[in-house]
This record gives sequence, C-alpha cells and structure tokens, in this order.
Amino acid sequence: MTTTSPVTAIVERCQALFEDLDLGAVKQWKAAAPGRKAIGYLPVYVPRELVHAAGMLPVGILGGGDQIEVIQGDAYYQSYICRIPRSTIELGLTGRLDCLDGMLFPSICDVIRNLSGMWQILFKDKYVRYFDVPQNYQDTVGGAFYVNELAALRDDLGKLRGSPISDAELNASIAVYNENRSAVRDLYAYRSARPWQAPTSEVYLVLRAGMVLPPEAHTELVRDYLAAADAQPRPKRDNARVVLTGSFCEQPPLGLIKSIEMSGCYIVDDDFMLVTRWLLDDVPADAAPLEELSKAFLHRSASTAAKYDAKREDKGVFLLKQIKTRGAEGVIFAAPSFCDPALLERPMLQDVLSRNDVPHTAFKYAENTGQMAPIREQAGTFADSIKLWTAA
Ligand code: SF4
Repeated sequence: MTTTSPVTAIVERCQALFEDLDLGAVKQWKAAAPGRKAIGYLPVYVPRELVHAAGMLPVGILGGGDQIEVIQGDAYYQSYICRIPRSTIELGLTGRLDCLDGMLFPSICDVIRNLSGMWQILFKDKYVRYFDVPQNYQDTVGGAFYVNELAALRDDLGKLRGSPISDAELNASIAVYNENRSAVRDLYAYRSARPWQAPTSEVYLVLRAGMVLPPEAHTELVRDYLAAADAQPRPKRDNARVVLTGSFCEQPPLGLIKSIEMSGCYIVDDDFMLVTRWLLDDVPADAAPLEELSKAFLHRSASTAAKYDAKREDKGVFLLKQIKTRGAEGVIFAAPSFCDPALLERPMLQDVLSRNDVPHTAFKYAENTGQMAPIREQAGTFADSIKLWTAA
C-alpha cells in the first residue's frame, strides 16, 4: 500500500483549490455561519485587512487560467488584448462568481478599470469598487489621498455588513495579515535557500491557496508546507538561479512554471500574487490603522513593474536587490501578451540589467497558452548559457 507524503497531501489540496473555478472553498466558508459575505478582488493589490475587518472573506480572482473556454467574454474585449479580463467576464457570466457579494478592481491598467465599469453594468446587485492607489509617495499628498481612499472603502464595507468597522477590528486584521506576510516571507526565503526542496510549482500552489482561504488558515497551510518540505529530502540539481518577473496579473499556466523548472532553472524570486508580499514588513497594529496602512504602502512596499515609480532612477533598483538578496544569476521576463504595465517597463529594466551585467531573457504568454516546448527550449538555453559563460 502506498502512502501519500505530507508534502504531496498539502500540494494536492492546494491543486484542488486552484482547479476549482466554482470557488467551493468560498461557498463552504460562507455556509459555515449565517450572513457571511465574500468580496472578490482582481490582481494586483488591495488592502485585504479592510475586508477581513468587516468579517468578510477576501477572494483573489486571477482569471480562468487554461481551464475554461472563453465564449461570451470575447464579445466584451478586443481579441488582441490580454486574456484575464475576458476569462473573468466569462467566470462572472457563467455564474461561477455568484458567491461573491462584491468585487474590488485595483488600479493597475485601463483594462482592469474598464472591467470595473462593465461589472457595474452587468452585475447591478453586487458591490463594485474601483480601488485607486497613490502615484505620489509623500505622506501629505499621496498619503492623504490614499487614506481617503481607504476610508471610503472602509465606509462602504461597513455599510455592506450593517455596522461601521472599528479601529480595533482593523488593527486585529492587520495583525492577522502581519502573520500571513511573515509566513509567506519565510516561504520565499526558504525556497531561495533550498529551491530543490520547495519547487516553485509547489510554492505557487501554496501561495495561490491564499486567494480563497481565510488568512489564518492560509498562514497555517504555509507553515505546514514549510515543515513538510523541509522534512522530505529531495535531490539537489546544478540549476541556474533566476528571478521571474512580469507575471503579477494574468497568471502563466502552471505547466509553464513547471517547464521553466524542468529546463534547468531554479526560480528563486518572482512577482506572482504580489498582494501577499506588497507590503514588505509588519504594519504596526496598535496605532491609527489607515495611516499605518498608508505609510506601509508609500514607504515600505515592493517596487515592481506593477507599482508606479516616481523617479526614473528608481527603475530596476528593487529588481537588482531581489537578484542580490536571492543570489540569482539571471532574470526571466515573463509577461502576459499585451500587458501594458509589464511590457512598458521591460526595456527599462532590461537596460538596467545589461548595465549591471545580469543575464536576462524574455518571452510572453497567455493564461491558456499551449506553447510549452519553445519556452522550455528558450529557458533551457538561457540556463545553459549562465552555467557555461557566466558562472565563476
Ligand atoms: S495582464 Fe496586464 S494589461 Fe492585462 S489586465 Fe493585467 S495588468 Fe492589465
């Protein structure tokens, strides 16, 4: 009789959550107590603390992946743009998101902004908010603006549940998310230190589970995975250590992540599901909550292509730091086709890497792309070139 190892059991659970486009886990959570509400959010960042403080479940919606055929959704967008808005519309029109009581559309690009307008027209009985974030990082300017945005969202969610959200509730939720951020930081540090023990195809699924589980349960899951992964020795390979960047919104198919790993790369950092790592350290949970969330956003957040850089000289600084702290030997730019934020940023980041002698390669994908072989060949050649020509 074969027994399932703890790692396999955890990864299989995460895979089942990942594949369940009908959001069974969310329905289950709602059914466990009367009156519970769930609020969906699109990539890239929303302050989930506010949703949690209202007693609601924040649910990350990352499109339909390669699991659904987009039929109705194609009528709403041009055929050449990225796929996530179309598959998200498809999810909505086919009733798969009916268990959500509202949707937040964070400011990232015109596509998501337009999607928020479509949602208001299509789903009139749901709460919908376009959530804006600052592009100025002074507390008195961008900070004041952002605190107002946070206050408006807090107000809306309070009305939705029927009573205002208190500072104490918010601070308690900030503490819960501090724990979650800490666990995810540990997960990323562990993968970087021992990537053969925690492959990215698994880390991705563990992270993805946090899109539908309550944060408390997700923190426990991450900790369990770390303990189980560490207890099960796996063979170490002579792979090239790379940072994968550009995949912060529409997600690559899981097969693509596996293809990159199978080609000879260890992914030691990435920008998947940045909402889990947008704020880089603990947010004080004993002060004015909105102001503290604002300060963390303005001064202590990840500066990827998904966030506006106020100064040209800031470009690439965060990526170089990722490369250094993770001991990466190269960068793979992997962005969805048509993704303005990722693809506009890419030449500037490539320029920074070239000036710093960091090898890099680039390709585009769609969430339902079936072209794994060329990507595997490209990533494999990149890994070989690092090992042959840039290793000391
Ligand atoms: S993939 Fe890029 S362009 Fe498309 S919705 Fe996301 S951020 Fe916008």
